[in-house]
Amino acid sequence: MARPTRLKRALVIDDDAAMREVLQGYVEPEGFEVFVASSHAEAEEVLTNVDLDIVLLDLVLQEESGLDFLQRIRADSSSLPVIILTGYASVETAVKAMRAGASDFMTKPVDRVVLGMRMERAIELEQARRLANTDGLTGLYNHRVFHERLGEEVTRAQRYHHALSVLVCDLDRFKHFNDTYGHPAGDRALIEVARIFRRSIRSSDIVARYGGEEFAVILPEATTQEAEILAERVRERIAETGFHPESTVQELTISCGVASLCDDETAQHLVERADQALYDAKGRGRNAVAVASAH
Ligand code: GH3
Ligand code: MG
Ligand code: MG
Repeated sequence: MARPTRLKRALVIDDDAAMREVLQGYVEPEGFEVFVASSHAEAEEVLTNVDLDIVLLDLVLQEESGLDFLQRIRADSSSLPVIILTGYASVETAVKAMRAGASDFMTKPVDRVVLGMRMERAIELEQARRLANTDGLTGLYNHRVFHERLGEEVTRAQRYHHALSVLVCDLDRFKHFNDTYGHPAGDRALIEVARIFRRSIRSSDIVARYGGEEFAVILPEATTQEAEILAERVRERIAETGFHPESTVQELTISCGVASLCDDETAQHLVERADQALYDAKGRGRNAVAVASAH
């Protein structure tokens, strides 16, 4: 769903009051609502409370703490573009900043036109990345990202002998839900189901819209038992949720297949076993969780 148009929001973090004013004067006419912070603590406050589009971060003083702060922003809001501004041209600092996740790097004094263009570009790049990686309806990762991340996680789990589990889940008789309540109500239900998945997982878990009414979750470090508990929790929450205002019956349920990585197993085989378990859950009458037998 398109967000209503609003001014884009930028946060300027600089300990120099004159510089903050200059930057604010440059950025506001470009169509931004500008927030300013003179310290990391002040910036933290804005980051927590404001839905920002971009951050301009001054690194001139205390370079290391500035880079640490950049990493903190990255950890909390991985998709927020950050442009680094410094008072001196140092290739080394620029490289460190880009490695720490900066979108771009500029040396002060900055040219207002160039700054505006770089900000525009950083925001567009982030939007393009989001479009390529996520599903437009639910905002979850798409099928492609799921497989990319699964490949990485399987490699990591094999190397370090860590547990790794996956869930493959499919809404039950969703065609009937659409036929009864209409396609738009079906779309709203998918959005709500995505929200339930997101709220149920840990921040290190990866949840994707795997297909039309299919969802898949990668659970790094999770044993079969832990994955089964999560699947049960999601199944129960969906069964308890009223997805349509006019209905009083339990109108939407989900079935889930759980599989945990075995030694030397491929990502593809792991997903096939989870899929088979999902098929078994459907066979048991749906609204069920089934665990795959070992590989
Ligand atoms: P089962 O319990 O066997 O999974 O039955 P089902 O009806 O869920 O399975 P089936 O594969 O027959 O139908 C899937 C339905 O999901 C049909 C399709 O219209 C619906 N669907 C897929 N993607 C979307 C979507 O983006 N929005 C809506 N509203 N419906 C969707
Ligand atoms: Mg299906
Ligand atoms: Mg289905």
